[in-house]
Amino acid sequence: MTVNLMPEIKLNYKELSPCDVLVAGGGSAGVAAAISSGRAGAKTILIEKSSFLGGVATGGLVTPMMKNALDAKTLLTKGLFLEICDRLGKAGGGGVFKDGNPGWFNPEIYKCVLDKMCLEANVQLMFENQIISTETENKEIKKVFFINKSGCFSIQAKEFIDCTGDGDLIALAGVSYESGANNHRQAMSLRFMMSGVELKDLAKWLQENDKTGDSPVHFLDNGDILLSSAYTFEREWTLKPFFDRALKNNDLEKEDAAYFQIFSVPGSPGLIAFNCPRITPENKTLDPLNNEDTSWVLTHGRQMIKRISNFCKKYLPGFKDSYICQIAPTIGVRESRRLIGQYVLSADDVLSGKKFEDAIANSNWPIDIHPSKIGEKGQLRHPPKNDYYQIPLRSLLPKENEIKNLIVAGRCLSATFEAQGSARIQANCWAMGEAAGNLAAKRINLPKNLTKANNITA
Ligand SMILES: Cc1cc2nc3c(=O)[nH]c(=O)nc-3n(C[C@H](O)[C@H](O)[C@H](O)COP(=O)(O)OP(=O)(O)OC[C@H]3O[C@@H](n4cnc5c(N)ncnc54)[C@H](O)[C@@H]3O)c2cc1C
Repeated sequence: MTVNLMPEIKLNYKELSPCDVLVAGGGSAGVAAAISSGRAGAKTILIEKSSFLGGVATGGLVTPMMKNALDAKTLLTKGLFLEICDRLGKAGGGGVFKDGNPGWFNPEIYKCVLDKMCLEANVQLMFENQIISTETENKEIKKVFFINKSGCFSIQAKEFIDCTGDGDLIALAGVSYESGANNHRQAMSLRFMMSGVELKDLAKWLQENDKTGDSPVHFLDNGDILLSSAYTFEREWTLKPFFDRALKNNDLEKEDAAYFQIFSVPGSPGLIAFNCPRITPENKTLDPLNNEDTSWVLTHGRQMIKRISNFCKKYLPGFKDSYICQIAPTIGVRESRRLIGQYVLSADDVLSGKKFEDAIANSNWPIDIHPSKIGEKGQLRHPPKNDYYQIPLRSLLPKENEIKNLIVAGRCLSATFEAQGSARIQANCWAMGEAAGNLAAKRINLPKNLTKANNITA
């Protein structure tokens, strides 16, 4: 028996009641896994280190979910993903963009909707608990250990699903993984939101000035305005004149302007969500698993947010009376540990539109790599036109000679650095989580054949 307790933590721990399926982490993948396992009748516990569900989608303010579709009518993710989008719309916190993407959402309402869906599926939610260790025996995880304000606890389960994004269970249970590639990493971001924006003024300006189609605006029947715009050094964006002036006046630093993107938020008049700042120092590659680096990202990111918000107020149409209303409590980590599992999804698979017998997700999102250093070029490489690739179930499973009762879902799937740059979008995380939860429940009740996940067949 191996108890991988961190040696520095010599606590007495209390054993809580066991469950069938234990889901580690409550982001998009974890919630999907827990709901599908709970609905299948498995006694399911979800352990989450923060105080809400949604992971980086809510805590990192990563809204909207990116479009995963061949065209406005042919969505590539169905099942639980469509259900959550529908529930968000009904709760007044969701919206469908004119390109058919149903994934626009308000992160605060998202948290409430996710709580409700998990409780309806009989999932036991355990917030503010960080998993710090596992006990393994005969190539199975027997229990996980976690800490909260009251002390250290453990729970036994038959099946474990690692949805921690960072692959914490993979690492703690000694399963093979990698992180980054050849000293390359995806950039981390610290997202934020501003309230008090005159969306009508901004929408009007964008409609009158957008010659390139990079700043779409969509008026919904309920009065919501869905819009987005962006700026980088690489193209002639609609917003370029403002950035040129602000850089000349030293109101922005180069790193602030290197990547800028905004989205409005359904059900939230006057609210703008920023997909920036991207934290890209010149001389250092930051590691999302290094606490010194992540602490620096938080303090440095908040200084960048102050400058970017001042720029918006001074230069952008509609922003004069706006103010910062939220800075993400969670850093936007795009990539860290990735399982090396039974199948490692590759860039070739993505770019050739590869299909698999054991497919559990369809996607045509490009390989989308954000450079970790300012001045480096990113990647945006697409699957074939009008086609898509698939993620096989084997990319969620550790190698056969490693841990048998562990499934991995979400951005820590088994994929190369480049393929993960595509597979990591939220729609895919929902699909992976749904498949993982179904499989865990099946292994307990019907330990025979694996069938395809609902998100493809529904
Ligand atoms: C800046 C940024 C912009 C992005 N933009 C988009 C976009 O526009 N559209 C899109 O679709 N996707 C986007 N993505 C990608 C996508 O949002 C993420 O890849 C996806 O949400 C990850 O989901 P997940 O469930 O795998 O992990 P996460 O959402 O990271 O969830 C992991 C959960 O596990 C918990 N956890 C971690 N460790 C432990 C532990 N030891 N014990 C207990 N709990 C733990 C965390 O608190 C968290 O709740 C973006 C990502 C980033 C970072």
